[in-house]
Amino acid sequence: MQQICVLGATGSIGRSTLDVIGQHLEQYQVFALTAHQRINELAELCIKYKPIFAVVTNKEDQQQLQQWLTQQGLATEVLQGKEALCEVTSHPEVAVVMAAIIGAAGLEPTLAAVKAGKKVLLANKESLVMSGALFMQTVKDSKATLLPIDSEHNAIFQCLPSTFDSDLPKIGVRKILLTASGGPFRNTAIEQLATVTPAQACAHPNWSMGKKISVDSATMMNKGLELIEACWLFNAQPEQIEIVIQPQSVIHSMVDYLDGSVLAQLGNPDMRTPIAHALAWPDRITSGVTPLDLFKIGHLDFMQPDEQRFPCLRLAKEAIKTKGTAPAILNAANEVAVAAFLNEQIKFTMIKQVIAETLNKLAVTDASTLELILTADGQARRFATNYIKTLG
Ligand code: NAD
Ligand code: MG
Repeated sequence: MQQICVLGATGSIGRSTLDVIGQHLEQYQVFALTAHQRINELAELCIKYKPIFAVVTNKEDQQQLQQWLTQQGLATEVLQGKEALCEVTSHPEVAVVMAAIIGAAGLEPTLAAVKAGKKVLLANKESLVMSGALFMQTVKDSKATLLPIDSEHNAIFQCLPSTFDSDLPKIGVRKILLTASGGPFRNTAIEQLATVTPAQACAHPNWSMGKKISVDSATMMNKGLELIEACWLFNAQPEQIEIVIQPQSVIHSMVDYLDGSVLAQLGNPDMRTPIAHALAWPDRITSGVTPLDLFKIGHLDFMQPDEQRFPCLRLAKEAIKTKGTAPAILNAANEVAVAAFLNEQIKFTMIKQVIAETLNKLAVTDASTLELILTADGQARRFATNYIKTLG
């Protein structure tokens, strides 16, 4: 029986994870569930999965949730705050941590799990984007097992040999083909992008996801963050990664080898596949995902991304080439800009402008410690927030 912590349990990935766990309760036991808002939803999940701990971010929610759960006769103890998140992810009884908090808020609890040498299922790409070198060094030092949940990275992981040890040319890899759907605005006239609404941006054609990552998919910043994520996970240079638009989201990514072989991982666009893969790795378990019906799909298309339509791709490429705190600044500015767009404070097309301006104005430092990374993150958030005010 493996004890598992699900960070961000009420989110899209958190719920899919619990769905898979629920199909294999003889193998996995929920140790802790965490959430930020909508604690009534967390309460329902606690009643269903009976974790030892639940963790929330603020004190009022802690009291409220504890009261509800105690009334229900549950022994679950409700904790609060970032330290509590780090405590549960590094708890000696925990074997597996699903890191599915959205954004920079996931960095410290995810790093704590890595430091404690856990099997870490990484959905929270922002934490790796922010702290790449430090994160990967910590994985090495602690001998944690890091398994990618992002469907593309999970696909790449599956297409690499199991003996892969961070040297792509040595195993004959020519390049990684990172696939993208192109999001909801792949074919929208560029001049219309200034007037698209948050609801339109969140209406992803293939995937059902949280709001922030849905907007990231619409700007293709999601692919930019994923390019950075892939560089760290697979020790790749940005030039070794090619982004390929695959509008059906059936091929989740590919690896192109020197001998002309291209290995791909296919499946229906349902995050329960990478989640089940990583949970059971190196074994396989059922996920509840409908088997792929190739005859129904009929054909697969491929296109090159257009950087004029998706300028965030270029910003992300530049940030990973600059290294240091540049990816952390990019990520923070993006989080602020996406939140402002979702609150209807800025236009969709201003997202890239906020990020570019923040990267232009802030000095990049080295990113060798958590403190340096969090300082850069804070500065970028303040700058981007003030800049948005000037856009009025
Ligand atoms: P979501 O918005 O649906 O859920 C986010 C979860 O994090 C919620 O449980 C929320 O309560 C919690 N949370 C939010 N802010 C927090 C804070 N400040 N402190 C603590 N907890 C907080 O997000 P999602 O779509 O499930 O995405 C989660 C992560 O997985 C993201 O990093 C995203 O990029 C990545 N991811 C998601 C998908 C997908 O299909 N949804 C696919 C690939 C990668
Ligand atoms: Mg992805």
